[in-house]
Amino acid sequence: MKAEIVAIGSELTDGAKLDTNSQWLSQQLTDLGIAVHFHTTVADNLDENVAVLKLAVERADVVLITGGLGPTLDDLTREAMAALREVPLEFDEPSLAAITEMFLSRGREMPERNRVQAMFPLGSTPLPNPVGTAPGIWMTIPRGTARPPAIVAAMPGVPSEMHRMFDEQVRPRLPVSPQAIVRARLNCFGLGESHTEQLLGDLTARGRNPEIGITAHEATITLRITAHGFSMGECDEMVGVARETIVQRLGAYVYGSEDEELEDIVVRRLIDSGQTLATVESGTGGLLSQRITNVRDFERCYLGGLILPSETAQRRELGLAPDLFSQGGAISEAVAREMAICCRARLGADYAVAITNDRGMEFGADLSLPAAIVAVAAPDQVHVLPVQRIGNRAIHRSRTVKSALNLLRLHLVEPQ
Ligand code: AMP
Ligand code: MG
Repeated sequence: MKAEIVAIGSELTDGAKLDTNSQWLSQQLTDLGIAVHFHTTVADNLDENVAVLKLAVERADVVLITGGLGPTLDDLTREAMAALREVPLEFDEPSLAAITEMFLSRGREMPERNRVQAMFPLGSTPLPNPVGTAPGIWMTIPRGTARPPAIVAAMPGVPSEMHRMFDEQVRPRLPVSPQAIVRARLNCFGLGESHTEQLLGDLTARGRNPEIGITAHEATITLRITAHGFSMGECDEMVGVARETIVQRLGAYVYGSEDEELEDIVVRRLIDSGQTLATVESGTGGLLSQRITNVRDFERCYLGGLILPSETAQRRELGLAPDLFSQGGAISEAVAREMAICCRARLGADYAVAITNDRGMEFGADLSLPAAIVAVAAPDQVHVLPVQRIGNRAIHRSRTVKSALNLLRLHLVEPQ
């Protein structure tokens, strides 16, 4: 069983609004074992809407539409559905009563224009909307004798109304899929996309079950595992095997799963071992501290962070010697190392993470030099890592902060 989502609205195609409904609906259908093969976004134009729907019912068994059910002239979904089925629109008295009631409950009289929301393609089923005026529409489209009719369900564009209508009206009407789909994500850091693919070898081959896709976001690589089977148990098993194989091939590059970030892993490890952390950062505006303090219970291990934007501040607050800077400037391994050691001592923590980041990187900096150095001071050793400049300033900052967290994570998972 294949599905298509059709998002209708000129505000979507002209870029004024982001189509979040398609994403949400795809997640719901996938959880039901219905694979979504197409997302179509179309402007408020009747002929184009009909053309899109004709194509959708040809290539998909379930077509979910959102948007275009409002009372105004640009809301054309009901007309498009009637044209698709080649039937007229008919008036539905109970729907009109519900819309009138909705207005009354809000202390307003129903404008004449809203009557159109009680018109439905002949033979379709109105779907009540308990939180808005636009009812949805459920109908089937015959596709000859060889194929079952296609299901078409239209829901309002307003996300909260759509969610509720899907949960209460659409989901229970959908056919039970003989398929199950289970998805999982593994997150990795420290490798590029192509290198990751190379290490994974045959695992990422197209057409494989489970399928494994790779996406990258600010240097975090996410492996998306999707298993298709006849039961959840079968899919879970496939996902489990895929996970194990990935971890065997990528080792410590894999740091977590689902929504886990590097800081989640680091904070959890520190709390579990009863150890503490301090940070000092230059040129990242406190981003490292911000990420750490976003984690639940961070105060159980995080003693504090210093934001020292200049050499003067670093010398004053940490007592760094002036000749440290004369050797290699502010972005040197020596400075990063000393910052970490002095921060650790000053805050009395088990570990300190230091970042020195080149603030002038967009203003003609020497691109052959690392733009940042990160360091981790542990009780008996110091790790130092240069971070090359890739991407714009915001991405570079984010990568630098993640590199620092990852350096600490690697020490915590396998101390050298
Ligand atoms: P409509 O049902 O077309 O009158 O849309 C009502 C509201 O829902 C408008 O504010 C739209 O911008 C919003 N909306 C419509 N379609 C979507 C969508 N696919 N994703 C997110 N918001 C949407
Ligand atoms: Mg609209």
